[in-house]
Amino acid sequence: MNKKITVLPGDGIGPEIVAEALKVLNKIGERYAHSFTYTYVDIGGCSIDKHGVPITDEGMELCKSADSVLLGAVGGPKWDNCPPAIRPEKALLAVRKELGLFANLRPTKLFPQLSDASPLKQEIVGGGIDLLIVRELTGGVYFGERKTEQVNGELVATDLMPYSEHEIERIGRVAFETAIKRGKRLASVDKANVLDTSRLWRKTMHKLAEEYTEVEYSDILVDNTAMQLIKNPTQFDVLVTENMFGDILSDEASMLTGSIGMMPSASLGSGTLGMYEPIHGSAPDIAGMNLANPIGTILSVAMMLRYSFDMAEEADVIETAVNAVLDAGYRTQDIMQDGCTKVFCTEMGDLITERI
Ligand code: NAD
Repeated sequence: MNKKITVLPGDGIGPEIVAEALKVLNKIGERYAHSFTYTYVDIGGCSIDKHGVPITDEGMELCKSADSVLLGAVGGPKWDNCPPAIRPEKALLAVRKELGLFANLRPTKLFPQLSDASPLKQEIVGGGIDLLIVRELTGGVYFGERKTEQVNGELVATDLMPYSEHEIERIGRVAFETAIKRGKRLASVDKANVLDTSRLWRKTMHKLAEEYTEVEYSDILVDNTAMQLIKNPTQFDVLVTENMFGDILSDEASMLTGSIGMMPSASLGSGTLGMYEPIHGSAPDIAGMNLANPIGTILSVAMMLRYSFDMAEEADVIETAVNAVLDAGYRTQDIMQDGCTKVFCTEMGDLITERI
């Protein structure tokens, strides 16, 4: 297969981690006779410096016309005082909007080899955690009407949380399809005992559950989910939820692994085009020092193969290679443990590539 990938290395450690992920992808191309072609586009601070905007119109067009987009990270202290309209992260929101990416997939995987890094007790996480949160990204209270007004002599603020059936159905389909590609279990998170949006959410999910009979479906209230993620996170396979609940729960879940450098993510729309990126930022404190952990970006490439290109076997091969390198005791500095071998960013990329 031939796939065109628009690559947005960005700022800080972005170019370093993206280079390692592309090494891995090239090796996959060799092994499976796929051809991946890369078009590089400036994004974030480096684009502000060169072009005066966080992403140019031509850059945006190259994202839209690609088969998939790979992002490193954007931002850094140099651009902290830019006017709001041209801040580095504006480009991320613009790309998500222009590409219609309404679904955010965030796997939370605690590799058993790194279970010491989790803040939870060994008896809870010793066997590892492997769950995935599907968060609705373009609806709900973050996009609803909001106002602050004077009522009876005091200020009253209101934020509306609208959801339409079609918005719920399309994220529901992504979640069911994702569950089919994983452990075939889906829990839908809502607050249906209180909120109308959640009651419509639940009704719509139940309709879909009748269609996707191979998926074991359940409902769970958001407050209970927050508790269960700490008490027994290994019970979950895929969780689907609306925008704000997903924002909060995915940050809670990412902390269970204790290491931000390991975590990938995907943002998807109705077609196969997606944007893939590690969940961390540009880590200006270690930029240019070859110290970054590239695994979050390498696992983002595995997600790209799985979700945009339908190359499940190739994705498995990358995940197995990462596992094998951790088993062999290699660690970048952020996940270093006693008795392990400390390696630089480029070495970690090489070690994983060798095992493809
Ligand atoms: P950060 O995620 O960049 O860094 C937090 C800490 O984690 C730092 O100590 C950093 O060294 C470490 N870290 C992060 N990724 C790592 C990796 N791959 N390997 C090893 N260590 C890693 O968050 P921050 O410091 O709050 O933000 C720095 C900049 O990144 C800011 O300008 C922020 O706006 C931006 N940011 C961008 C994104 C994005 O591009 N999606 C996301 C979050 C923050």
